[in-house]
Amino acid sequence: ARSFAGRRVALFGLGGSGIATARALIEGGAEVLAWDDNPESVAKAIAEGIGTGDLRQTDWGGFASFVLSPGVPLTHPKPHWSVELARGAGVEVIGDIELFARERTASAPDAPFIAITGTNGKSTTTALTAHIIKASGRDAQMGGNIGRAVMTLDPPRSDRNYVVECSSYQIDLAPSINPTAGVLLNLTPDHLDRHGTMQHYASIKERLVAGSETAIIGIDDIYCAQIADRLEKAGKDVVRISKRLPLTDGYFADGTDLMEAVHGRYSRIGFLEGIGSLRGQHNAQNALAAVVACLKVGLDLGEIQSGLESFPGLAHRMEQVGRKDHVLFVNDSKATNADASAPALSSFPRIYWIAGGLPKEGGIEPLRSFFPRIAKAYLIGEAAPAFSATLGEAVPYEISGTLAAAVEHAAHDAALDDAGEAVVLLSPACASFDQFKNFEVRGDAFRAAVAAIDKVKPIGG
Ligand code: ADP
Repeated sequence: ARSFAGRRVALFGLGGSGIATARALIEGGAEVLAWDDNPESVAKAIAEGIGTGDLRQTDWGGFASFVLSPGVPLTHPKPHWSVELARGAGVEVIGDIELFARERTASAPDAPFIAITGTNGKSTTTALTAHIIKASGRDAQMGGNIGRAVMTLDPPRSDRNYVVECSSYQIDLAPSINPTAGVLLNLTPDHLDRHGTMQHYASIKERLVAGSETAIIGIDDIYCAQIADRLEKAGKDVVRISKRLPLTDGYFADGTDLMEAVHGRYSRIGFLEGIGSLRGQHNAQNALAAVVACLKVGLDLGEIQSGLESFPGLAHRMEQVGRKDHVLFVNDSKATNADASAPALSSFPRIYWIAGGLPKEGGIEPLRSFFPRIAKAYLIGEAAPAFSATLGEAVPYEISGTLAAAVEHAAHDAALDDAGEAVVLLSPACASFDQFKNFEVRGDAFRAAVAAIDKVKPIGG
């Protein structure tokens, strides 16, 4: 990070990505003083030759910046002690994405930079965009909230395309973020526990698109629609996308067709028909955002369509893991609450639904409108009694107890279903911690149980 050469920088957080960030600063000529609450992390940093010191005992006067490393939660409403010290001393508080943005501006301002945020779909859209760029034969550097910390990516160069997933918290710490294409997918009132009011949450996300050369905004919710209008009035280049509405100008999905609208004239620019990894209306939103971002950085429609078709999808998010005759097995273990299960339940017409785990407030009541699609439910974990009460007379169910039993019974029942494609879907609407270490381990257990079924053909890897 040459943009910090000769400057003194304080850094808190010495996990893997914090150490990488510190190292990048030092390589760029900065003088770094780093600290962590965990003595083991400090020892590791010392072994790596990083200057360390207790920031509580330090004179903050000489610091140009304070970097909060990725992975240190800036919990709302009370910031971390190190943030309070920095703010008290009048030292700017920034994160690694700000370091990256400044470095790119200083060394390769024409390096294409796509930054992606929103309440849902960030990782899918980021992975999809990077995949399309890579599949076209170009260099794609993917990082941020997904995968690698941005300072560990190859350094900015005009032929490198950066695709960066940004959480609100990272945007908050990146005051001069200036992507070529900024994507705001959607805003729903989730995560308000961490961000206070919806207004505050929306205004942080708005900063990412406000700072971008082209703002790509999903206008299917009222918050994003208002942001698009406001930025456009202010003279910004705004491109609207909708997963369901024909727009006069912008890009929208008509079923599985991807459409471009110019002053009310429509043309079909791509399609999602037959692409298993991008099934469902929510994925039309993700795909449209990726398509428009790729157009902005210079790909053509042929390259983009071929990238869409070869996208393998992300593990644990409506991931197709196996097929046996007319039965498709789908791993949606990432769905740890009812809202997160809604996209999967809305994407398949005939579902053998494996649900349960550690229940969250509200249970599965918000999913009632999908009950007619559920042929039968297989309940596991601590949530089983509460879920069975909600399902009541509306949906046949069994209390399977374990995931293994649920997979076995659901596969058996779905095989006997003669009404067309049947989907055995793990979309738990619950946390996993009562039976599994995390949602990834739960999804892996599902995939293994499916693979063990006689004559199942695996899909993907
Ligand atoms: P994030 O990175 O924002 O958490 P992911 O891409 O990991 O999002 O997707 C997580 C889950 O969110 C998916 O399994 C799906 O249920 C849901 N989801 C994905 N994209 C969207 C979208 N555009 N709108 C609403 N929900 C979505």
